[in-house]
Amino acid sequence: MQKLLLWDLDGTLLHTGGVSAEAMHMAMTKVYGPAPRRERPFYSGKTDRQIIQETYALLTPADVLEHLNDFMATYELELLARQVRLRAKAALMPGILAVLQALQPQALQAPLTGNIAPIAQLKLAILNLLPYLDVAVGAYGNDHFDRSALVPIALARATQAYGHSFSGQAVVVLGDTPNDILCGKANGTRTVALATGAYSLQELQAHQPDAALPDATDLAATVAAILG
Ligand SMILES: [Mg+2]
Repeated sequence: MQKLLLWDLDGTLLHTGGVSAEAMHMAMTKVYGPAPRRERPFYSGKTDRQIIQETYALLTPADVLEHLNDFMATYELELLARQVRLRAKAALMPGILAVLQALQPQALQAPLTGNIAPIAQLKLAILNLLPYLDVAVGAYGNDHFDRSALVPIALARATQAYGHSFSGQAVVVLGDTPNDILCGKANGTRTVALATGAYSLQELQAHQPDAALPDATDLAATVAAILG
């Protein structure tokens, strides 16, 4: 059975050198009010809606939703305003391009990310990853505040797009944080962790992913870990 690989973006496929976090902070400040600056692990593995909710403890989920469209438009404008720096600083994680290329003939690949959809698609476009990932099948930070709820959303979109269902070990959730591992496990998928983000290999292994690697530079080992 053909596999469906659901890729996290930040810390797994790519990084933006802090430019997108800066744009997001500015957009939150403009739409929801002054926001404290946080260390990187505060954001890791969370959906943008979850980050907003945890940043503004006094806002109800309904308050967050009410201004979500404004936030999304503002965030996109803030990132576009930083496009020159974004293009200069954004980069793929080591080995990732070869892995995406190697898996393309044998697997369907889509994003599963806490990023809101327009931001995810902008990052993927800038780094030329759109040929490898089906963004229509992906699930994004504006779809739900809970990352675990993004997996069924992506699976429903995959069923719609490809005409058959995907479940269990035919689905692989790939990411760089405990939240990525937990969201795959909560949905009974295979989970693969790459220690290219804010967490060490040991920290990721403590959450018992099906496979964990320091990075994706060993092509054969990475492909084997993903396909299981
Ligand atoms: Mg990540």
